[in-house]
Amino acid sequence: MAPNMSPRKVPIPEQKPEERVKNFNEVALGYTPEQAKEEATRCLQCKHRPCVAGCPVNVLIPEFIKKVSEGDFDEAYRVLTTENSLPAICGRVCPQETQCEALCVRGKKGEPVGIGRLERFVADYAMEKRSGEVPAIEKNGIRVAIAGGGPAGLTCAGELARLGYDVTIFEALHALGGVLMYGIPEFRLPKKLVEKEIAGALKLGVKIEKNVIIGKSITIDELFGDGFKAVFVGCGAGLPSFMKIEGENLNGVYSANEFLTRVNLMKAYDFPRSPTPVRMGKRVAVIGLGRPSNTPRPSWETSDVLPWSNSGARLTVAP
Ligand SMILES: Cc1cc2nc3c(=O)[nH]c(=O)nc-3n(C[C@H](O)[C@H](O)[C@H](O)COP(=O)(O)OP(=O)(O)OC[C@H]3O[C@@H](n4cnc5c(N)ncnc54)[C@H](O)[C@@H]3O)c2cc1C
Ligand code: SF4
Repeated sequence: MAPNMSPRKVPIPEQKPEERVKNFNEVALGYTPEQAKEEATRCLQCKHRPCVAGCPVNVLIPEFIKKVSEGDFDEAYRVLTTENSLPAICGRVCPQETQCEALCVRGKKGEPVGIGRLERFVADYAMEKRSGEVPAIEKNGIRVAIAGGGPAGLTCAGELARLGYDVTIFEALHALGGVLMYGIPEFRLPKKLVEKEIAGALKLGVKIEKNVIIGKSITIDELFGDGFKAVFVGCGAGLPSFMKIEGENLNGVYSANEFLTRVNLMKAYDFPRSPTPVRMGKRVAVIGLGRPSNTPRPSWETSDVLPWSNSGARLTVAP
């Protein structure tokens, strides 16, 4: 079949702005099977596969996209998940624009192939349509402990369970997912979807111990003493950086991580039903206006008018 040479990605359906302002539901709605097939035919099936080199987990991108173009979504899912245990999540929040899509040859004369959109489509299709069958695995009886149930710990647990290891995840909080649960907002990554994808990745019999802080509730030496043969430490790098100035321990001063955890995971938005309020104030100071250093500079950052300036917010920039 001749490739679809449209310079533009097939647009992804989204909530209409007039609807979107009234809810916190996901904004992008995902491709239909027809839209996914149409976008997949934009892939040139390059022999040198530059997109794969841009993917941190080396997803077999042209191979899974070919299956999508043929309408074989089950096989596309099988190919995709040989390298990636959390495709519905990665299809939504991975920075494809600086990774696989940045290297896609179609990006030289137009928009790259919508690799993330296709990954999301295949994962969502499988979640909806597949029975969630559990493959038969020969257990080897070797126990491995995973400290931290974020994406790193979950992926490691899923991969080791698939190889037959007896895996237990120890998570400090009352929910698995790490930043996926407490950091990324609902309208970009619905929590129900994260829970479903985690359940799928762990269906091979991984044991879960929540509310256990490795190093405090139990030490790594104690884990070895209990018969674990290896420990994977996937506790994130989420410690906030403080300024070490007077008053930063006062009530009502939050690090970004604490603020997000309170709002997203501990339901501060539901105070007083939730016991973890975020202190409300008429005047709020935000210190820092950061973004990852490898992301393109948003146009509003270079202009004098910030998008939220008509809400009364003022910006003071250090000289
Ligand atoms: C606000 C925010 C938004 C982000 N948005 C994106 C995005 O859109 N796209 C993207 O690709 N990346 C994004 N990232 C980065 C991404 O979330 C991280 O790279 C990723 O979560 C790292 O995974 P992890 O498993 O290593 O750590 P985490 O997600 O931090 O998970 C670590 C887990 O370990 C647990 N833990 C910590 N200490 C212990 C202990 N002693 N004992 C037991 N458990 C412990 C924690 O409770 C947590 O559940 C974002 C990060 C933040 C903070
Ligand atoms: S670089 Fe782009 S066009 Fe080439 S195989 Fe990868 S996704 Fe397809």
